[in-house]
Amino acid sequence: MAAILGGGLGGLSTGYYLLKNNISNNNNLKLLLLEATDYCGGWIKSIKTKDYIFEQGPRTIRPRGTVGLNTLNMIQDLGLSEHISAIKPDHPAAKNRMIYVNNTLHLLPSSLKGIFQKSEPFSKPLIYAVLNDLLSPQKELKDDSIYNFVERRFGKEIADYAVAPMICGICAGDAKEISVKFLMRSLFEYEQNDGGVIKGVLKSLFKTKNQEEIVLSELAKRAVEEKWNVYSIKGGLEIIPTVMKQYLKENNVDLQLNSKVEELEFIDSSLVNVKKGNGEVLPANHVYSSIPSHALAKLVSKQHPELSKLLSDIPFVTVGIVNLYFSTQKPLITPAFGFLVPPIENSPILGVVFDSCCIPDQKGTVLTVMLGGRWFIEKFGSDITKEKLLEIAVKEIKTILKIDESVAAHHVNILHKCIPQYVIGHYERVGEIREYISCNNLPISLVGSSYDGVGINDVIYSAKTQVEEDVNK
Ligand SMILES: Cc1cc2nc3c(=O)[nH]c(=O)nc-3n(C[C@H](O)[C@H](O)[C@H](O)COP(=O)(O)OP(=O)(O)OC[C@H]3O[C@@H](n4cnc5c(N)ncnc54)[C@H](O)[C@@H]3O)c2cc1C
Repeated sequence: MAAILGGGLGGLSTGYYLLKNNISNNNNLKLLLLEATDYCGGWIKSIKTKDYIFEQGPRTIRPRGTVGLNTLNMIQDLGLSEHISAIKPDHPAAKNRMIYVNNTLHLLPSSLKGIFQKSEPFSKPLIYAVLNDLLSPQKELKDDSIYNFVERRFGKEIADYAVAPMICGICAGDAKEISVKFLMRSLFEYEQNDGGVIKGVLKSLFKTKNQEEIVLSELAKRAVEEKWNVYSIKGGLEIIPTVMKQYLKENNVDLQLNSKVEELEFIDSSLVNVKKGNGEVLPANHVYSSIPSHALAKLVSKQHPELSKLLSDIPFVTVGIVNLYFSTQKPLITPAFGFLVPPIENSPILGVVFDSCCIPDQKGTVLTVMLGGRWFIEKFGSDITKEKLLEIAVKEIKTILKIDESVAAHHVNILHKCIPQYVIGHYERVGEIREYISCNNLPISLVGSSYDGVGINDVIYSAKTQVEEDVNK
């Protein structure tokens, strides 16, 4: 038996790829998925009414690169192509991304022409950042924070107004702590190997790229041809885990909800006892853990304290999510993806997504306010109520967007320890974790957002990679 721990996107994708690789049929292996709660989908949760959709977790997916195209392949295979709502380059959500600085919303440049013009809050045209990179000396480092790297290569304004808010939008984190390898690994390598980013980019033009090739589905081909920027799912993202769960069930995966795993007892290289909260012990030949690293740390602490320590050293942040619905048909916002607030503004909010612009079929204006993240405890303490978060979010929205209408419906959630932080040294730590597992012959594979990328595409792709690695052993 192979046991999958966790029924979030990581666990469901692991089940999907195990089935696609014919693991159960070829080896007569039973597949079991254990989920602690009564719901499959993890952080993906959508509330759908006849007037609006509130996404409580993720809402948009990027179609680019191998990992993005791989997700589209899976979506087509699951029969979900019709649910895609693509945001193409001419869509306002693709062109209009804003930052809130000095009590004003500023549009970020989105075209090549834009980088030659001075646009607030930047004091010079962005093209000057290129000069900065060409003139700045190389600093030899093994890793660095993304903030330090960008400040060194492109200047402080780019670090403060472009990169720091982007990190808030992607992982609710502090760019001064997040590893440069999280988003800019190749740019960092250009600096380390070629002395600067622009020099590295120019050199790379003459090298043949060995990007991984994948076979593209019709849907993935469409995304490439039509140059999709991002996409959302009509009816809510929750449709993806719902259909995946159904697929797993139809293919005889034993899917057990309300089944929290409390301990893993490793016996030998092909036997591990999976102990459930109700005292039941399930012997498995292999475990795929998709639960957060801090949760897995607890399961292995008795037998493998060193591994447990490495796992619990991966930090996580808590995010407040406030979904707001305004029923008026009057346009309340300029069509855009939304705006982010740079941490130097010291605002209680991280950013706002204009959902009614990104997700179709909404009657009125739908906004999602994200609060806290890396600064959650610092700003709100550990026992803030949902009512107070709502009050803060509404006050900020009304001030920034100058909305006078009252909120017709809302939903507030505090997502405790929901996003892992890939801080400086993260990739080395994950290397050590996998090295420990391999040296001790532990029959466990690690998937999910704690290790190889925090986004939806990364989680799906890491499930594919880990399953294929195991199959090809
Ligand atoms: C607010 C927010 C917004 C986001 N927005 C985006 C976005 O727009 N685009 C994007 O690409 N990504 C986004 N992400 C990231 C994306 O949601 C995650 O990458 C993905 O959902 C993580 O899936 P997972 O399976 O790794 O983890 P989880 O969703 O955390 O699933 C883990 C599962 O394991 C279960 N579990 C935990 N402990 C145990 C145990 N002991 N026994 C059994 N089960 C257990 C949990 O109940 C849970 O169901 C966002 C994330 C958040 C939090």
